[in-house]
Amino acid sequence: MTVQNANLKFTSKLTPLILAGIKYIVVHHTASLTASPQQIHEWHLNNGWAGAGYNEYIRKNGSVWIMRGDNVGAHCSGYNTTGYGICCEGNFDVETAMSTVQFDALAERIKFHAARFKTAQIVRHSDLGATACPGRHFPWNNLIVSKSQPPIQTTPDPEDTPNAETVNPVPANLYRVRKTWDNPASQLGAYAHLSNAIAIAIEHPAYMVFDSFGNVAFEPPSFATAPEKCWQQTAYDYLQNMGVPIDEKRFNDHMTRGEVFALLEKYDRARISHF
Ligand SMILES: [Zn+2]
Repeated sequence: MTVQNANLKFTSKLTPLILAGIKYIVVHHTASLTASPQQIHEWHLNNGWAGAGYNEYIRKNGSVWIMRGDNVGAHCSGYNTTGYGICCEGNFDVETAMSTVQFDALAERIKFHAARFKTAQIVRHSDLGATACPGRHFPWNNLIVSKSQPPIQTTPDPEDTPNAETVNPVPANLYRVRKTWDNPASQLGAYAHLSNAIAIAIEHPAYMVFDSFGNVAFEPPSFATAPEKCWQQTAYDYLQNMGVPIDEKRFNDHMTRGEVFALLEKYDRARISHF
């Protein structure tokens, strides 16, 4: 078994998982017959996410790929901050068998993570949400381990969608910046990319980002009390994403909030579409 870093380029800074808080090791399948780590990354980028949502990925040839690693993923609604997501290449709704090398790699990785996350339960995605993932033919009974029922309590995560592995190649989702979902009149704009919406939300106290279903996609820390580096880094990442040439050192050391927001406004105007 080889473990490799997929070296994916995420579009925004990932949030480290609090390892002591991991309660679940969540097993998924891609629901596609084959997929390279980069393909998964591109599918999830097209969802408007920072990139591939799984923490790691196991291919049919038994190779293991670190995707988000020990950072908060986007793979299981409500459990992304308390779950570590392992995805297996394949569609086990139609494929009736898993290759021995893939199965062995998965078993080994589960053992490895179970030792790291000592109190974590090993669960299928379908144990935590309404999904068929990882497929009815997934060799679950050969793997497990712990089948106790997880609690129903959920916590909202950034980049959540109900079925992270149900890949939509078209970025149909729009991220809306509003005070509340029920108040469309408060909307500042709608964005195809979450990072763009976040940059606007952090600029406006009391605003949040909602996905097309009205779920909270991002809730900024209180702007007034946010540590200097927090808003600054987000603004910096945002401007970089938009290809604005900026000197990081000058940005961090010398630019005031007013200057930064003037820059944001200047470069954002063309992108904002008001509804
Ligand atoms: Zn899944």
